Amino acid sequence: MLNLARAEYDHETKYKAFKGWLEQAARSPAYVAAHSEQSRNSLKVMDVALFEARYREARPAFEVLRGLYGSRTFAKRRFLYARRSQSYDDRLVQTTAKKMAAMAGGRDFVVAYGDGDFPLVIKGLGSSSHKKLMRLLSKKVRIVLTREYRTTKACPRCRCQTSSMKQPLGNTPQPCGRRSRVHGLSQCYECGRLWARDRAAALNIARSFVGCFRTGQTPTYLSRAG
Ligand SMILES: [Zn+2]
Repeated sequence: MLNLARAEYDHETKYKAFKGWLEQAARSPAYVAAHSEQSRNSLKVMDVALFEARYREARPAFEVLRGLYGSRTFAKRRFLYARRSQSYDDRLVQTTAKKMAAMAGGRDFVVAYGDGDFPLVIKGLGSSSHKKLMRLLSKKVRIVLTREYRTTKACPRCRCQTSSMKQPLGNTPQPCGRRSRVHGLSQCYECGRLWARDRAAALNIARSFVGCFRTGQTPTYLSRAG
């Protein structure tokens, strides 16, 4: 439903332009020296006397770097970048909420959201962006955090509690003769069925939610065995 790659995010927010400018500016010899001085001199110490000694040493480097990070240009660029990423997030959340409403045929629906990093796949984006997007989304739609134990492992067809799906081997052998595993695909070794991993997980998360909603319990096949 929402499959966002880091590259697209960077492109839309012009992250590279911002980062490129910063790297270019930081390349001036004084800043380079100050940065390396700073990374050499860790202030993460527990001893007060040691901290003060190190701080006195590091102080000049801070003063130099203030010229970069305290500058109006940096503030302006950072502001513009923040505004771009904010408006991108807003648009993304708007479209997603609309898509969900269209699929549900109205506004009366609940989104079962895996309590880990699933099923909202944001490749290469850290979990902090992930959580941020979920927080924004939760202002538009009803979200229920749902337990996702075994949701990527259990086959939605067999509903077997003990067997786990595996990534199948591809058809094309590698130069070394071995066949590599197919990313994003899962195979059930009970019934042989192939699943798009994210789709199987989404189905399982939905059932996990419905089970809890109806009976107060996670479906057996998604529970810990024994
Ligand atoms: Zn199966």
